[in-house]
Amino acid sequence: MLPASFHPASVPAARERGLAILGSTGSIGTQTLEIATLFPERLQVRALAAGSNGALLAEQARQYRPDVVCLADETGYAALKESLAGTGVRVLAGVDALAEIAMLDTVDVVVAAIVGAAGLRPTLVAVEAGKTVALANKETLVMAGALVQRLAREHGATLLPVDSEHSAIFQCLVGEDPTAIEMLTLTASGGPFRARPADTFSTITRAEALAHPNWSMGAKITIDSATLMNKGLEVIEAHWLFGLPPEQIEVLVHPQSIIHSLVTFRDGSTKAQLGVPDMKVPIQYALTYPDRWSAPHDRIDWSALRCLDFEAPDLERFPSLGLAFEALRQGGTAPAVLNAANEAAVALFLNEQIGFADIPELIEDALGQRTAEDGDSLEALIAVDQEARRLVHNRVAVRA
Ligand code: NAD
Ligand code: MG
Repeated sequence: MLPASFHPASVPAARERGLAILGSTGSIGTQTLEIATLFPERLQVRALAAGSNGALLAEQARQYRPDVVCLADETGYAALKESLAGTGVRVLAGVDALAEIAMLDTVDVVVAAIVGAAGLRPTLVAVEAGKTVALANKETLVMAGALVQRLAREHGATLLPVDSEHSAIFQCLVGEDPTAIEMLTLTASGGPFRARPADTFSTITRAEALAHPNWSMGAKITIDSATLMNKGLEVIEAHWLFGLPPEQIEVLVHPQSIIHSLVTFRDGSTKAQLGVPDMKVPIQYALTYPDRWSAPHDRIDWSALRCLDFEAPDLERFPSLGLAFEALRQGGTAPAVLNAANEAAVALFLNEQIGFADIPELIEDALGQRTAEDGDSLEALIAVDQEARRLVHNRVAVRA
């Protein structure tokens, strides 16, 4: 069964939609604002929030005139306040203020586009306020999928996927009986190291890992795409969004990123959603669902498209994908450990403190040190998250 949170009842169809964009200065956040620019009559930007880029947040506030902006990093408050003096835009700072933004009365749709575990708390607040949540922050569902779905049911919130693969599956499921699904097939580009020999993985540099062949994204998800952990996180995200067990979710490498995912039904029919790799399309669908609004995004040029390639993912060169399936099978808090250990390891790799091949090793190590107990409360999940990060840092300190 599709979770009840998919019902469009709380999405206002006729009147304008008020948006809060959490993570407005990032890759998803700025593309969401591009969509808002296309539909100024129908999408009202009510609130913007960012981590520490106060200069860009101020620029966005001057352009879109939201009611309120929030910077999570309090040290940037004074400069932001000064730069928005006289605009009438209310300025907030600190992580508690992020929660305030997620539950504003004027906001219908909260775009959850903060990266990593930092997005969990404000996303939960939006769910508890019964908002429609356009979810880009997959880490929220990986850490706390059971909690998010329970709260969404209790508070009548609607979760709509922004991630291109999950948007594709969602689009394939419109009008279908969810019990007729046999298999979800998440496509993966394979990242920059799809064809790189295993014995050269230890020499992979930060710059090489940040050069994604098809998508331009934030640094953390770009590294996740290079290790295939991004696809692992997406498998767990799909489990919680569509309510299917790991046996009914598979991954297929498709280097062109034209087919964004597929659904096979029990009668043997398969549906796919296709498009050029452009996040603005799934972002817009999450903002306009159940409608489709006319937009000038690039179309596929069928005359130029020569072939679509597919191959199975290589779990030996990319062990992170297998670890994610393993964490999902274990259940309980194992996915929260996986997510936190991955975030810690990716940050260390981006700081050039560990090598590329160390990332999955550190995650496996953290997963092996914990039993998969249940932990459905926010406090329990945050404690598990913190402990997994400590494990990773301790292991790296011992090695050094
Ligand atoms: P990004 O790094 O470009 O942007 C992250 C945003 O989060 C920025 O606005 C930043 O200011 C904000 N932020 C960071 N730390 C914060 C904190 N502690 N408190 C408050 N705000 C904070 O990341 P992105 O690529 O836009 O990705 C955002 C999310 O969307 C991730 O969860 C990612 O997995 C998901 N996603 C991204 C893409 C993509 O194409 N970029 C595609 C699918 C899913
Ligand atoms: Mg994706």
